[in-house]
Amino acid sequence: MSGLKGVPEEKAETSKISYQYMTGKDGHYLKKRTRLFDAVVKVDVNPDLPVIEESATFTAQKIPYAVLAEAIAFFRAVWAKTGAEAIVLLWFDKGQWSVHAPAQIVGPASLKYGRLQNGLTPVGSIHSHGAMGAFHSGTDRNDAAEFDGVHIVVGRLDRAVPELAVALHVNGKGFDLEPEQVIEGLPVAAVKEDDHPWLEMVETMPKRASNFHDFNEEDEEWMNMHEWF
Ligand SMILES: [Zn+2]
Repeated sequence: MSGLKGVPEEKAETSKISYQYMTGKDGHYLKKRTRLFDAVVKVDVNPDLPVIEESATFTAQKIPYAVLAEAIAFFRAVWAKTGAEAIVLLWFDKGQWSVHAPAQIVGPASLKYGRLQNGLTPVGSIHSHGAMGAFHSGTDRNDAAEFDGVHIVVGRLDRAVPELAVALHVNGKGFDLEPEQVIEGLPVAAVKEDDHPWLEMVETMPKRASNFHDFNEEDEEWMNMHEWF
């Protein structure tokens, strides 16, 4: 029965596995040593390292709304004349924000533009979406892939104050920001429809099978029963 006696010893030996995580040029590796082998294998994660979340914070002085308004006036002019979207590039030089229009070929939902030949590097862009909402489309994100900086989309040009979507693009990664984090003096109406601060003051009437807009006696009864404060 000496064989049985040997089992625990063997178990003890197999438990002598050593692990060591390493991080190399192209990822994480596990160096594993057992009594049978020494090996290094690529792994997805290194549990010894802390979790890091990607982030980007806008730290410069905010862009005055007046600068944005210049861009919006240009977008409206292009939209009125051609029904197309348009773009301006953003500069931040000696503490001053400015926008300038590069030469561009525009269409209803796309455009091509050249960099201005003024020797300065733009730090972002602002482009319009006509009467569509403000959002960063897949094309917009691709266009910004190699263009670090602030990228603003202006939508709903059919309104008195258009809608804005703002993102910081860093190394091909887009970080959505609230317009007020980047723009100074933003009119209240520039916030997105579903974001208006006064929405919390509004309650909708209960849904009915009949036409909601017919304000009949039943509705009046409901209005009276409802506690207004
Ligand atoms: Zn776009």
